[in-house]
Amino acid sequence: MENLFQWRLFPLLTLLVSFMVFFYVQSHPKLSEIRCSLLPYQHYWIASKRIVTPQGIISGAGMFSDGKIASVVKEDEKRESFKLGHVIDYGEAVVMPGLIDVHTHLDDPGKAEWEGFPSGTKAAAAGGITTLVDMPLNSFPSTVSRKTLELKIKSAEERIYVDVGFWGGLVPENAFDRSALEDLLNAGVLGLKSFMCPSGINDFPMTNTTHIKEGLSVLAKYRRPLLVHAEIQQHDHLGLQEVVDDARSYSTYLKTRPTSWEEAAISELVTLTKDTRVGGSASGAHLHIVHLSDSTSSLDLIKEAKSLGDSVTVETCPHYLAFSADEIGDGDTRFKCAPPIRDAGNKEKLWEALLEGHIDMLSSDHSPTIPQLKLLDDGDFLKAWGGISSLQFVLPVTWSYGKKYGVSLEQLALWWSERPAKLAGQESKGRIAIGNLADIVVWEPEVEFNLDDDHPVYLKHPSISAYMGRKLYGKVSATFVRGNLVYQEGNHASAACGVTILAK
Ligand SMILES: [Zn+2]
Repeated sequence: MENLFQWRLFPLLTLLVSFMVFFYVQSHPKLSEIRCSLLPYQHYWIASKRIVTPQGIISGAGMFSDGKIASVVKEDEKRESFKLGHVIDYGEAVVMPGLIDVHTHLDDPGKAEWEGFPSGTKAAAAGGITTLVDMPLNSFPSTVSRKTLELKIKSAEERIYVDVGFWGGLVPENAFDRSALEDLLNAGVLGLKSFMCPSGINDFPMTNTTHIKEGLSVLAKYRRPLLVHAEIQQHDHLGLQEVVDDARSYSTYLKTRPTSWEEAAISELVTLTKDTRVGGSASGAHLHIVHLSDSTSSLDLIKEAKSLGDSVTVETCPHYLAFSADEIGDGDTRFKCAPPIRDAGNKEKLWEALLEGHIDMLSSDHSPTIPQLKLLDDGDFLKAWGGISSLQFVLPVTWSYGKKYGVSLEQLALWWSERPAKLAGQESKGRIAIGNLADIVVWEPEVEFNLDDDHPVYLKHPSISAYMGRKLYGKVSATFVRGNLVYQEGNHASAACGVTILAK
């Protein structure tokens, strides 16, 4: 009798367990998805009193569903909506679109000891950056062909904590080879980058206006931008021989790269951007000037080109807005970059241009190296590696130094998210809007912190950053990439689930 009972009960029990497993799997994410996020949900709300949307700052909530923003509701509609799922309430903290950094050097593959995809993207996540576009140089080999782009993509696989896109290099070798350039663009680079002066990297030689004109004509078809490092070496500056004794003084370095270098480059570029006007031979192409430092005649040239209808934009970087030449101590090569940081009056004018909309956006130009190449002991400004290390700090830096100019949260979102998204062709990013990807930073603008050794820094070499030792406002609490909570209060998701973004 007992045996018969067991025999009958067993299939029933099996059926019951199967049902339970089926419903558990249906309502819970896969293990791999849990590792991508610090949260075990695929559908949930985040609420805040300060959500920065394209229509202004609202008190309300956004619903994330399968990595996208499924809904945005205001305070009064909240209560009804919340019956539908899990809610994370961030209170007074600001919920803003994640930052998009269109100018990062992660040096991977080939020079991963300088930064690398894992440390660089962990630092980005901790700084509220949800997407970055990697520059084609400082890694090895440089990204100048389909093959070298494929090496980049392979190197990034399962090693990135935020989304990463790639710029390709426009160099003399490929500039006159239309099929090579098209091959690189077809492989998915978001646009091209070139230098008008020596880049300091052997396999990334400089281009002249003839190369750039060729590049623009190819890019017109793809409607992708050309980014240009706009400095042309002039011979009217102090010879290196004369200044060799004073190489520890920042003013010596500043004299070696005067504003006339930027002005010379930009005056040549604006003769080419004429072709980008509607009906022009390069109509559809776009020229973007990276890291503008000169806020005088170079900026005037850009303003004029824009007013004439040229398709041109310009970025500057937090280090040009935060620092001025007279503050840089002897031998402090952490501040060396190109073009150089100029005087305080120049800095004021850069802020003015940014606030008035003449400068379109911001980027980090995070360009680290190993501490040995910064020559921190010798302090030789002429020989040290040029590049500011900043990636994790750009949001608090822009906010802290922008305070006295009355910078608003909406302006931050415009400079760091909406316009960079447009430049990189990422229409589903950069704004908190229904249907966009759920790429979000949650941060507390009023919280002050010291960027000292006790502060968790994820950059590979914090010691070379010019921002160490500063007091800043604006603490990043949480970062979401495609709905995954990838960073919160000093913790990263255990798996690197960022996506490589390729243009189609
Ligand atoms: Zn750069």
